This record gives sequence, C-alpha cells and structure tokens, in this order.
Amino acid sequence: MDCIFCKIAKGETGELLYEDELFVAFEDIHPKAKVHVLVIPKKHVESLDALSKDDKSWLCDYLLTIKKIANQLKLKNGYKVIINNGPDGGQVVHHLHAHILGGKKIDSLV
Ligand code: 5GP
Ligand code: ZN
Repeated sequence: MDCIFCKIAKGETGELLYEDELFVAFEDIHPKAKVHVLVIPKKHVESLDALSKDDKSWLCDYLLTIKKIANQLKLKNGYKVIINNGPDGGQVVHHLHAHILGGKKIDSLV
C-alpha cells in the first residue's frame, strides 16, 4: 500500500512537528491558514467512516492529542478542527487526518 501519510508517520520525510506512540503531527504542504497542521494516527485508518468500536481504545486520546498540539501551537485565540470524510466531504488523502487551522479568524461553514 502506497500511503503518503503512512510514510510521513514513519518519519521517512522528516517533517514531524509532534510524535508519540500513537500519533504524529506535521504542517500541511498547502496551508489554508496561517497555521495549518495535520494530526494523524500512526496506524493506517482510511477515514472517519472506517472507524469501528475496535478503535475506541485510542479515539479519546486522538481528540486530546489534537487539543494538546493546538495548545503547543499557541493558538490562544481559538482554532478550527476539521476532518473531511469521503468525496462530498472533500477527503483527498485516504488516511484519517484532522486539520488544525488557526492564526486568524476562519469563516465557518456551519
Ligand atoms: P483532505 O482534503 O484529504 O482532508 O486533506 C489532505 C491534506 O493533506 C491537504 O490539505 C493537502 O495539502 C495535504 N497533503 C497532501 N499531501 C501531502 C504531503 O505529502 N505532505 C503534507 N505535509 N501534506 C500533504
Ligand atoms: Zn496510511
């Protein structure tokens, strides 16, 4: 399987901002905000839709890690977290990832 985010998670591209046992974070290659960081599980999971109850053991940690990284990025005035899912959701890379966007006010869709 040729997954760019699996390669990044293994440190093969040398662009990690954060790493622990389960997750890594790195800057988006095409930033859509002043700060645009992606947080992914090291384990290859295709999407939000692909999750099941078997993933309960790490999902809570995923959200807490996203918060921790946002705090480390010093986004004191707030930030947005987005997970795109499937074609209509605009998902392009098929390895689950959460976008952290901040550094200025970001318009809301909802
Ligand atoms: P999606 O639309 O799937 O939610 O977002 C995928 C994101 O991954 C896009 O914002 C895109 O710029 C970013 N991306 C795609 N390939 C790479 C890459 O090789 N390195 C990094 N750092 N970001 C990537
Ligand atoms: Zn992957």
